[in-house]
Amino acid sequence: MTGLAMPKPDAATLARRVEIVEDMKIIVPNEGVVDAVNGMRAFESDGLTAYRQLPLVVVLPETTAQVARILKYCNDRNIRVVPRGSGTSLSGGALPLEDAVLLVMSRFNRILDIDYANRTVTAQPGVTNLGITHAVEQEGFYYAPDPSSQIACSIGGNVAENSGGVHCLKYGLTANNVLGIEMVLMDGEVVRLGGKHLDAEGYDLLGIMTGSEGLLGVVTEVTVRILKKPEAARALLIGFPSSEAAGQCVADIIGAGIIPGGMEMMDGPAIRAAEDFVNAGYPLDVDALLIVELDGPGPEIDHLIGEVQRIAQENGSTTCRVSTSDEERMSFWAGRKAAFPAVGRISPDYYCMDGTIPRKELPKVLAGMREMSERYGLGVANVFHAGDGNLHPLILYDANNPGELEKAEAFGSDILKLCVEVGGVLTGEHGVGVEKRDLMGTMFNEADLDQQMRVKCAFDPNHLLNPGKVFPQLRRCAELGRMHVHRGQMAFPEIPRF
Ligand SMILES: Cc1cc2nc3c(=O)[nH]c(=O)nc-3n(C[C@H](O)[C@H](O)[C@H](O)COP(=O)(O)OP(=O)(O)OC[C@H]3O[C@@H](n4cnc5c(N)ncnc54)[C@H](O)[C@@H]3O)c2cc1C
Repeated sequence: MTGLAMPKPDAATLARRVEIVEDMKIIVPNEGVVDAVNGMRAFESDGLTAYRQLPLVVVLPETTAQVARILKYCNDRNIRVVPRGSGTSLSGGALPLEDAVLLVMSRFNRILDIDYANRTVTAQPGVTNLGITHAVEQEGFYYAPDPSSQIACSIGGNVAENSGGVHCLKYGLTANNVLGIEMVLMDGEVVRLGGKHLDAEGYDLLGIMTGSEGLLGVVTEVTVRILKKPEAARALLIGFPSSEAAGQCVADIIGAGIIPGGMEMMDGPAIRAAEDFVNAGYPLDVDALLIVELDGPGPEIDHLIGEVQRIAQENGSTTCRVSTSDEERMSFWAGRKAAFPAVGRISPDYYCMDGTIPRKELPKVLAGMREMSERYGLGVANVFHAGDGNLHPLILYDANNPGELEKAEAFGSDILKLCVEVGGVLTGEHGVGVEKRDLMGTMFNEADLDQQMRVKCAFDPNHLLNPGKVFPQLRRCAELGRMHVHRGQMAFPEIPRF
C-alpha cells in the first residue's frame, strides 16, 4: 500500500490467523473460504486500484445465518470485517485490511421475489444492478438508478454507496428507490428495515443505512421499486463553444421546469477521446457537448424537444441533433457510456474524481480546474452528470513516472476542496471510502464528525466494521465530545490516530 494511513493491524488477530481460517471453514463450508495468497490476490483491491492490500482471509457466505455467525464470531473476538460486493468502488470502500475478514457477498445472487402489483423486486445483495432490470424487462419494467458500472456492481454495493447514474436526475438515487432491506449487525442480530410499503414507522433507519459504506451493518436482502418503461424516449446532442455556455444551458433547462430523463455533459478532451473510441458521431469542433434525454408520452417529448432547442440556441449552441430512432439515441449515449475506457486509451492512468456543486458554480469550478491542470502539469478530461451538478473530472497521469500519482491525488483533493468552497460536497455518488476520508475535515467540523460517529457507535460500538474508511481519524465511542488536547496531553493516548 502507498502512503495511505490505515488502522494499525491487531497483532493478536494476526497471530490467530490459522485458527480463524479453520473456524471460517466450519461456518462456511464448500469452498466458501479463500486463504491462499494467490486466491486472495483477486480481492486485494477494488475500483480504486492505486491501493491494494491482502486481507486476513476471504469468506464468501451464502446465507443470512452464515453472515450472522461470522459477524458474531468476529465481534466476540475483536476481529475486523470489511464487507464487499462486486469490488467496483471508486473510493476504496472495499479495500481490505491485513487483519480483517473480507466478507464477499457475491454468492448472494438470487432474485427472491418479483411483485408487479406492488411494483417491487426483492433481491439478494450480490445481484447486479442490471440483473434487476433483466428480471423484469419482459413485462416492460426496469430499475431506474443506473450507475455506469451497472453490468458488474451489486445492488448491496449500490445501497452501501447510495449510487447514482444518468437517470437519477429524474428518478432519484438509490436512496429514493430502495424500500426495504434485511441486514445483519456486527453482533450477529438480523434486522429488517422498511418493506414493500412506501414509508416506515419510526426513525428513517433505512435512510441512515443507504450510503453508510459498509460501516453500520451487512445488507443481506434488498427490496427496490421498479418502474414501467417510459412510452418513448428521444435524445438531443447539443454542441457549445464553451463549457460555460453549456453549463448555463443546463441551469436554464432546469430553471424552465424541465426535468430530463438524463442530462450529461462532456468537455473537449472527453468528447475527442470518446469519439476516437466509439465513433458516436460527436462534433469535434465544439468545446462542450450536452446529451439531453426526454422521456414520456410522444406529444410531451415533442413539445419539450422544442423548448430545449430554444434554450440551447439562446445559450449559443453551435450544433444540435435530435435522435429519430432508438438506435440513434443509443449511439448518442455510446460515447458518454464509454467515456472512462476511452480516456484510458489516451493516458496510461487516470484518477476519477467525484464532487458535487450547485449548478450555477460550474463555470467557476471549470476555470479553477484549468488553472490547477496547468499548475500540476497534468491533463484533465471532464464528464458530468450535469443536471445534478455532479462532476467526474478524470485526471490524466502516468503511475510509472515517480511522484505523478501523488501529484494526481493532490490535484484531485484541490478540486474537491474547491467543490466544498463553492457550496458543494465532497462526493456525489462514489462515496468517501479511503479516498476522501482525510478531506472530511474540509466539510465537517469536529462536532459534526462526532455526531456522525455517535450513529456509528450505536450500530457498531467496537468499531469492527470497515474501520479506516470515511472517518478521518479513529475515534472511540468513549471519547466522543471529549477530544481536546490540554497542555500537550492527548486524551486517550492509547487510541491509534491516522
Ligand atoms: C467503470 C466504473 C463506473 C462507475 N460508474 C458509477 C456511476 O455511474 N455511478 C455510481 O454511483 N457509481 C459508479 N461506480 C462506482 C461503483 O460501481 C459503485 O459505488 C457501486 O455501487 C459499488 O458496488 P459494488 O457491489 O462493486 O460494491 P463494492 O465496491 O464491493 O463495495 C462498495 C462499498 O459498499 C460496501 N458494501 C458492499 N456490499 C455490501 C453489503 N452487502 N452490505 C454492506 N456493505 C456493503 C463495501 O464495504 C464498500 O464500502 C463506477 C465504478 C466503475 C469501476
